[in-house]
Amino acid sequence: MKRYSSFMSMALIVLAIAGCSKISEQTPVLDNSSTLKSASLQPVYDMVPNEILVKFKPGLNDNQKAAILDKIAGKVKEKVLTKAMEHAGDKEGISLISMPIAALEAISKVKGLPEVEYAEPNFIYTHDATSNDPYFTNGSLWGMTTSNQYGSQAAAAWAGGHTGSSGVYVGIIDEGYMYTHEDLAANAGTNPGEIAGDGIDNDGNGYVDDVYGWDFDGNNNTVFDGTSDDHGTHVAGTIGGIGANGKGVAGINWSVKLLDAKFLGTRGGTTANAIKAVDYFTNLKNKGLNIVATNNSWGGGGFSQALQDAIERANTAGVLFVAAAGNNGTNNDVTASYPSNYPNANIIAVAAIDSNGALASFSQYGATTVDLGAPGVGIWSTVPVSSKGKIVSGYASYSGTSMATPHVTGACALYAASHPGSTAAQIKAAVLGAVTPTSSLTGKCTTNGRLNVSGL
Ligand code: CA
Ligand code: CA
Repeated sequence: MKRYSSFMSMALIVLAIAGCSKISEQTPVLDNSSTLKSASLQPVYDMVPNEILVKFKPGLNDNQKAAILDKIAGKVKEKVLTKAMEHAGDKEGISLISMPIAALEAISKVKGLPEVEYAEPNFIYTHDATSNDPYFTNGSLWGMTTSNQYGSQAAAAWAGGHTGSSGVYVGIIDEGYMYTHEDLAANAGTNPGEIAGDGIDNDGNGYVDDVYGWDFDGNNNTVFDGTSDDHGTHVAGTIGGIGANGKGVAGINWSVKLLDAKFLGTRGGTTANAIKAVDYFTNLKNKGLNIVATNNSWGGGGFSQALQDAIERANTAGVLFVAAAGNNGTNNDVTASYPSNYPNANIIAVAAIDSNGALASFSQYGATTVDLGAPGVGIWSTVPVSSKGKIVSGYASYSGTSMATPHVTGACALYAASHPGSTAAQIKAAVLGAVTPTSSLTGKCTTNGRLNVSGL
């Protein structure tokens, strides 16, 4: 038992180091925020250093809350009370607290108090792509074709007339995405309740002019901010790159409607913003928009009750939550990886395979915690590129469980298109039930198989 737990902490430290270096490679600044030091409270995960999320017990008055905050000299930076929370009967929401002391120290002071439901870090998440592969010279979309047996066999579904539907919406929770891209524009969804550019929150969801989605990182309606939104754009192209238009790539769905909740900025994304992003789509679904799934090609951080609760609100609303297993090559049964490890029924956790059917060397796996494998090495898709001072449509090959995940999200949308009215549970069962048994995945995921959309 002792050996087990010391292995656990070693694995956690490795994870933390990998997380840090990933952030510093991709983003210039984190002003040492990820390396809080206090004698007994050594953070394992990246988190915003002087912020915590607190859920107070229902019915407390302002004085009672102030007394709790006084213990840590804390101030309410933001009260997060989303429409989806209200829909679920929560009048309180959660409070984002800022304070001068370190996050874990603050949590240790308020956690367990009778007035506090929970207190947890405001984790920092990053996307789950590995680096761009500039030497990948074969431009074929192996993840889509039938010529490679390890691809998703999407071409077989297309040949059978299953190419998606413009009545199916998918939420991308990621960076922003280039909705004007030549191979995406026709599949760029818009919020039907919103009138563009009138400065009014027409649909009353709390966000003004959220036409293509919302930027929770920048707190504005600009879900495309330039070439730094390459990861989100790449994910979008795998789900819904326009097929048969003679340009670029084809997504699993030739036709679909994409909406974006940007919460990963240049410094990554926080738990507080992840919750708002998840709830954004839950609210749209609750109001009748046919959002089948969200794509979640990101991870990091430890367990968050607040985020698990948000995913559960999506589950209640019937929105699948497709999540990357992570890129540290570790076993998620042993070292939990979030958000893919949350127990919610609507989660589908995705590992990455390469074009030879092998589990990608970086891919995390888990016999009980990861569901299936999908193409995630050398995946070509859409990206914004800079050319002569302008941002134009481009294509690039990326690798990561980030790239495997949108194949599966796309599969959910494809099934929903050919089986209108199916529930989230039915869609999940169909996608997982259609896998092809794969030796490299045997004992590495619940289905022991890889994505096969040919019959969806
Ligand atoms: Ca709105
Ligand atoms: Ca923006």
